[in-house]
Amino acid sequence: MKINHDFIRKSSFQKDLYRWRNQRSILGYARNRFNWHVLPRIYFAPAYPNHMDIELSSRCNLKCPMCFREHREIPNQNSMSFDLFKRIIGEIEGKVYSIKFTGRGEPVMHRGFSKFMDHLKGKSFGEVAMITNGQLLSEDKMQSMIDCAMDTVSFSIDGLKEDYERIRAPGKYEDIIERVAYFHAMRNRAGAKKPIIRIQSVMINETEQREFLNIWEPISDDIFFLHFKNYSADAPNIQKRKYACPMPVQRLMVHWNGTVPMCINDEYEDAVMGDLNSQTVVDIWRGETFRQARKTHMRGERTLAFKNCAKCPLTREGHGDG
Ligand code: SF4
Repeated sequence: MKINHDFIRKSSFQKDLYRWRNQRSILGYARNRFNWHVLPRIYFAPAYPNHMDIELSSRCNLKCPMCFREHREIPNQNSMSFDLFKRIIGEIEGKVYSIKFTGRGEPVMHRGFSKFMDHLKGKSFGEVAMITNGQLLSEDKMQSMIDCAMDTVSFSIDGLKEDYERIRAPGKYEDIIERVAYFHAMRNRAGAKKPIIRIQSVMINETEQREFLNIWEPISDDIFFLHFKNYSADAPNIQKRKYACPMPVQRLMVHWNGTVPMCINDEYEDAVMGDLNSQTVVDIWRGETFRQARKTHMRGERTLAFKNCAKCPLTREGHGDG
């Protein structure tokens, strides 16, 4: 089961080369890829996570039918405080290779988004990235992403016009094309090579893919098609049993309020590893709760011990394998 390979990349060779040449450090990137792919094979957790996912806001402006939020509401929705954000960045800068703004909500829903991006200027990370539906991305927010030298922004664009407007309602396809094109032109006008603009879509058929590429290739740098994952609570849920998930040795997720769940797929905090209001990242990552959780994974008992793993859509048989 290829938990980190659940997509097909469609960008041209020139664009692949462009992305490689614009890594902050080719050596750092190569080291990170080694840690990411090789350390999980021996189930070894390095001193700090390779990567951190930061939820700026758990609110979302959309109600996409395939999202887990549509099956069960997220309790207690809010946005991260600037103090907590500064404390996290202060601890992990130079230690954690990459950070990504993602989670259960839309990062741009955070009212202080531009201030948070300003705080990242000059900070030493190998990569800073974000996933967004793009619909609320205003000019000042785009500018703050360019100014802080964000490396990658991934726009979730599902399919062509009809699918998009059904899935991402009330968003309009022409509007999101125009917004991404505006951002692309704005970045180029500023003479900035970043953020790399990545377009990600659910998998569509070959004919639709060609049409999709014609629209998006001229205004982006990278295009992914993601294999479908059924997040529905009613989906067939046959879990691979003797399986140690790589996530607990690769990355750490923090929710807006400082709670650290086991992984990005523990949306309802069924397995809490710690709280960044009273602990540090390294306390939690190296702490007893996480260590015991990893041992449970290594014994192949994750589905018996953890509710989140027992229903994980990434590790259901037949889902996400491509
Ligand atoms: S819920 Fe469990 S199996 Fe799924 S990604 Fe998280 S740790 Fe891995």
